[in-house]
Amino acid sequence: MSEMTRRQFLKITGTTLVGSSLALMGFSPGVALAEVREYKLTRATETRNTCPYCSVACGILMYSLGDRAKNAQSNIFHIEGDPDHPVNRGTLCPKGAGLVDFIHSESRLKVPEYRAPGSDKWQRISWNDALDRIAKLMKADRDANFVAKNADGLTVNRWLTTGMLAASASSNEVGYLTHKVARSLGLLAFDNQARV
Ligand code: SF4
Repeated sequence: MSEMTRRQFLKITGTTLVGSSLALMGFSPGVALAEVREYKLTRATETRNTCPYCSVACGILMYSLGDRAKNAQSNIFHIEGDPDHPVNRGTLCPKGAGLVDFIHSESRLKVPEYRAPGSDKWQRISWNDALDRIAKLMKADRDANFVAKNADGLTVNRWLTTGMLAASASSNEVGYLTHKVARSLGLLAFDNQARV
């Protein structure tokens, strides 16, 4: 019989000690060691999106539970960087890495709200009412303040009394169309924190 090295001796006695300790605690080592922890994203639905925070516009993967059946509510429980996205290649800064808390924040605004002049209270309104109100106010302001020609008689077609801030979680195509709509109205004050 060959002589046992110190390393082999420690390995055998260590394994035996772990096995006997588990047995004393009521576990069967054979069954416990065969159990593999289930991957937490196995049954999740994966959705691609863009981080809404800054001009870098990193790609994200959002994982949610819920089978999308009628009346079933999906619940996003994990977000990570999209490894296939050319901007961030799977990475996220601490702000983007904390997005799941932003989604579930109690103070997150999810519906349009309106505060009447002189009131100290916000009231919930429908999306239709909000969009109608925005469209009416834009038209009234544009009709009153649109500048077709400047003082020298040059055609300028500009509207300087209203501005627009677009969302960053948009594709290049949506960003392009949003830009066209804003400029065709004559808006000059137009920005987007992601500049997509
Ligand atoms: S993950 Fe960070 S760097 Fe990327 S878009 Fe979001 S806030 Fe900007």
